[in-house]
Amino acid sequence: MNIFKFGGASVNSVERIQQLVSILHVYKGGKLLIVVSAMGKTTNALEKVAEAFYGGHKDEALTLFQQIKDTHLTTAKYLLVKNYLAAEAQLKDFFTEVEWLLHDRPVRDYDYYYDQIVCVGELLSTSIISAYLAESGIDNQWIDVRDIIRTDANFRDAAIDLTFTQQKVSKEILPLFDESPIVLTQGFIGSTSDNESTTLGREGSDYTAAVFANMLDAESQTIWKDVEGVMNADPKLFPEAKIIRELNYDEVIEMAYYGAQVIHPKTIKPLQNKGIPLYVKCFLDATLPGTVIHNSAIKGLPPIIVLKQDQALIHLHSKDFSFVGETGVERLYNLFGAIRIKPNLLQTGAVSLRVCLDDRSGKIEKLALSAASLFDVQVEKGLTLLTIRHYDADVLARHTAGRQEVLRQQTKETVQILMK
Ligand code: ASP
Ligand code: MG
Repeated sequence: MNIFKFGGASVNSVERIQQLVSILHVYKGGKLLIVVSAMGKTTNALEKVAEAFYGGHKDEALTLFQQIKDTHLTTAKYLLVKNYLAAEAQLKDFFTEVEWLLHDRPVRDYDYYYDQIVCVGELLSTSIISAYLAESGIDNQWIDVRDIIRTDANFRDAAIDLTFTQQKVSKEILPLFDESPIVLTQGFIGSTSDNESTTLGREGSDYTAAVFANMLDAESQTIWKDVEGVMNADPKLFPEAKIIRELNYDEVIEMAYYGAQVIHPKTIKPLQNKGIPLYVKCFLDATLPGTVIHNSAIKGLPPIIVLKQDQALIHLHSKDFSFVGETGVERLYNLFGAIRIKPNLLQTGAVSLRVCLDDRSGKIEKLALSAASLFDVQVEKGLTLLTIRHYDADVLARHTAGRQEVLRQQTKETVQILMK
């Protein structure tokens, strides 16, 4: 059994969906579980619907949603003949689910509505693709992954209940392969024990695919992307970026954690735990070798460069001059947990601490406010965090030229520089 994951860019047009089918024709035969993302920028578009709805702009929300409906119906019409009507009926059921909600007034918190609305993107894309596969002679079974992936109710960043989900996978997914070799489903979404939809965090489909790989004891997982493989830097920012053919789990988890947009950071653990190799392959040319990620130690890696924008630095100074190491650090980590924010970099002194964090969704303000009872707090925003693994003096100089350094942390392997 193998796991394939196709991202949004791989299914953002009729031609690309046709390309997906030609890839599957090559791999036909073995058992495949396929996870497909929402088409193109659908998730972003659905976020706009959720924002409009929660802001009380019902008509705007409905208009924005209408555009999403139209795109999907048009795509379905282009691709499908025999299965069009059945697919249209399925799409319309999902449309209705969302529209019902949009006619309500928001009474719960934003994240709840976000998940109920945004989850539909993957349901729509996979419905169309499943029908198209069937029409192209590729027998497959479509599954609503919300019946399988059980999560907690931490909307927008839900955690999978692995024990419950494993039982579902063994009892309900495994037997499907006796009927047809391909199971097609969604990533990124799940549901609570109350049947409320949840999402696992943006780009979460990679992680869902890895959870399936782990639970089905897959031989491998392949992520199909619109790039040649994993690069040593973002090619949009650094044209000289080059592909790395082979990486190990540690390297990738570090890259993803520091902000490389390669793979969702949670993806590696389920694969590493069972020694399942991860292939990153080019969707546009399946004959290219791509990148393999596995357990072996790899020598001679090039410098790996990751830039993270929108960073905030919080300076904390102990109010009564007690050492921060005594209780300050512990209390600060409790705050991180409560606010659900992860420090990207932390530097401690005797009576002061400096923490670099992603500046998003008002969390910095929350943290600064909560920390103010213990520390004098100062916040600096609009910073960039540069991380270079396997650095040398030359790369370091090139990437920091003309920038003002705010903070640096350096080991033999990795240098991190917070810059203005
Ligand atoms: N569609 C979701 C997103 O764009 C999840 C994913 O593609 O992994 O974030
Ligand atoms: Mg994606």
